[in-house]
Amino acid sequence: MKVLIIGNGGRESAIAKKLSEDKRISQMFFAKGNATTENLGKNLPYDSVAELRDFALREKIDFTFVGPELPLVNGIVDEFQKHNLKIFGPTKRAADLEGSKAFSKKFMQDYGIRTAKAAIFDSYVEADQYIQNHSYPLVIKASGLASGKGVVICEDKETAHHTLHQFMIERIYGDAGIKVVVEEFLQGFEASIIAFWNGEKAFPCVSAKDYKKVGNGNTGANTGGMGTVAPSPEFTAEHLADFNKNILEPTVKGIKDKALDFVGIIFFGVLVQDNQCYLLEYNMRFGDPETQVIMALLENNLLDVIHDCIEGKDLDLQFSDKKAICLVMCSGGYPGNFEIGYEIQGLDKVKHSNVLFAGAEQIAGKVVTNSGRVLNVVATGDTYEEAREKVYEDAKTLHFDYAFYREDIGKF
Ligand code: ATP
Repeated sequence: MKVLIIGNGGRESAIAKKLSEDKRISQMFFAKGNATTENLGKNLPYDSVAELRDFALREKIDFTFVGPELPLVNGIVDEFQKHNLKIFGPTKRAADLEGSKAFSKKFMQDYGIRTAKAAIFDSYVEADQYIQNHSYPLVIKASGLASGKGVVICEDKETAHHTLHQFMIERIYGDAGIKVVVEEFLQGFEASIIAFWNGEKAFPCVSAKDYKKVGNGNTGANTGGMGTVAPSPEFTAEHLADFNKNILEPTVKGIKDKALDFVGIIFFGVLVQDNQCYLLEYNMRFGDPETQVIMALLENNLLDVIHDCIEGKDLDLQFSDKKAICLVMCSGGYPGNFEIGYEIQGLDKVKHSNVLFAGAEQIAGKVVTNSGRVLNVVATGDTYEEAREKVYEDAKTLHFDYAFYREDIGKF
């Protein structure tokens, strides 16, 4: 069986490693892949949906897995399905639950999914009027995809006014700012719940906690994720029951009602305030770095799970009782400016963890940095502390110039 995996992050490394355990898979291709995937198959230079489709047809790929949101929102699933190519992921219409915050907020409101109170605007004048009498802080979101930068928590009217101007008039994120969502500020802790969707039912994985801020103690700028733990230590069985009732069940109803016909992943970005779960966002794909810890605990064969989903069968997901931690090692300066091209050393000294590359490539037999989030150190243990010790002991042996990581992943 031939498999194509689209993406190049630690998430794709984790998926590829898991799939590589399956002997039914004879060949894996990655577009564009990284230093981990290069050892598991062949990295390809293709970007566009058309190039990927032509490759899949030419190579007779048996199924394609899509990691990142952009190809999904660009309609890769629809295009592959038109050519009878098997692909795991949402159609363009369903991907809009992630690709358009205006669409997803309206969906949440229409189906009674618990979420922050919000108003949607495509008129700058009306949005600006609305923020004049609002209480603060408030949250302004560009509706379209903006690489995680399109959400601003505004402490006062001046910041809100400035943000609206930047999004809607200056268009700093292009068409992503044509519409905005202005919503109430919630306070609490966040949890990521990722569910497989077989076209009829959702099957949630173990919960995860993502560390989004660059600095220890959740300080500094937002990033793509500096680390994760699973299960989330804060998300209790009571929270899960509340999530199922007020978020999951009405979401399932909405997806069916709107005939958002697809098979794939639904990622729920949840904020728990006063023990009540609120839905902040949907992502219609696996999270990065949540996937790295979820895959570390998933006991099922991933290929079987994906196939059962595609065939509309029920899943019986099994997760280990262990705790998993993923630590992200970054290039100095990330998430701002950083330099690339530094050799990663010490890989042979790693004892307890799995090293999954993200922003790293192989050049002339060396592994070299090529992005901001460079690699993931992933380990499991009977306790969070045990997993933490393993990850940090191994991280200390790894080196590249100006490398840094948070010291408090998995420390509560
Ligand atoms: P990402 O790319 O990180 O998944 P995103 O850009 O798609 O995020 P959201 O998940 O909606 O956008 O928001 C990003 C972050 O902003 C959230 O994880 C949360 O920390 C914060 N945030 C969003 N909405 C609210 C809110 N209503 N109240 C408080 N914080 C919020």
